[in-house]
Amino acid sequence: MNPIEQYVAPTSLTQALECLRLSEVTVLAGGTDVMPQSQSGRLKFKPTLMNIQRVSELKGITRDGNAIRMGALATVTEIMHDALVQEFFPVLVEAGDHFASDQIRNAATLGGNINNASPAGDMLIPLLVLDADAELAAKPNGEMLVRRMPLANFFVGPGKTQRMPSELLTGVRLPLPPANHFARFFKFGARPALDISAISIGIAGARRDGVLTQVRVAFGAVAPTPVRASRTEAALEGRPLDRATIDAAAQAAYDEVKPIDDVRASAWYRRELIRNMTRRMLDHVAQA
Ligand SMILES: Cc1cc2nc3c(=O)[nH]c(=O)nc-3n(C[C@H](O)[C@H](O)[C@H](O)COP(=O)(O)OP(=O)(O)OC[C@H]3O[C@@H](n4cnc5c(N)ncnc54)[C@H](O)[C@@H]3O)c2cc1C
Repeated sequence: MNPIEQYVAPTSLTQALECLRLSEVTVLAGGTDVMPQSQSGRLKFKPTLMNIQRVSELKGITRDGNAIRMGALATVTEIMHDALVQEFFPVLVEAGDHFASDQIRNAATLGGNINNASPAGDMLIPLLVLDADAELAAKPNGEMLVRRMPLANFFVGPGKTQRMPSELLTGVRLPLPPANHFARFFKFGARPALDISAISIGIAGARRDGVLTQVRVAFGAVAPTPVRASRTEAALEGRPLDRATIDAAAQAAYDEVKPIDDVRASAWYRRELIRNMTRRMLDHVAQA
């Protein structure tokens, strides 16, 4: 483990961004990725370790016009118990329910899950199908700059994102869902609980006059980043959710994913799971 020269715990966003501007920083939120990764040698600490837990601007889940803003420090437990999330985005509660254990959920933050950028990150898949935007702030020359980008564009590789070293992820914005909205999350691991996903699937959309619209599908652990599944979406968009549509979408899902073999599953097994579980999830939506 390389030595840390300075530990800081800013109490405002301005202080945190100033620290990022002036030094090379490892950001610490809940620490549930940072600590095991540093102990295993996968993460080398930068000279400054910055604990962001006291930055109040990064906390809370609030309504902002036609969107819900979730602060980067919202923990998985807070998300699961939040009234706005329960009302508008129950799929995030479903994902939280499959996330690690109570102890980890109490510490693990949304911002940490996003910035760890694992292809298997469990909150990332529902966020992608809910059209989340990532919100980033920096203070390059005294003035605070905030930029937003679709979360789908934020991930560039395993553990790699578009975040610049001077930036902090401040939160995500989720547009309120349309009428007759549905969203589901499915995770498969070797164990039913406390396991990293071998694959995960998110599906969202709306049903109008029996036809699917605004369909979003995302897959986890089948590519270097969490991914939107455009061919599967196209197989569903504008169609009734009948047997033929469900079979065509499951086959499109199978055809478009390009997973790898690793310790959790072979590529062959992952593709079979994606086809079968996409079909099963769509059956559930059709019967709901
Ligand atoms: C036993 C165990 C089980 C787990 N199970 C699961 C699981 O089922 N599903 C799952 O998805 N994950 C799981 N994880 C991984 C981990 O808990 C999550 O990824 C968690 O959300 C990370 O959040 P954190 O606050 O602990 O992040 P940290 O460890 O503090 O940080 C993670 C990364 O994000 C960066 N970072 C954090 N916040 C910000 C910010 N606001 N701006 C910029 N960079 C930031 C850090 O620098 C670091 O690179 C598990 C971990 C453990 C130890």
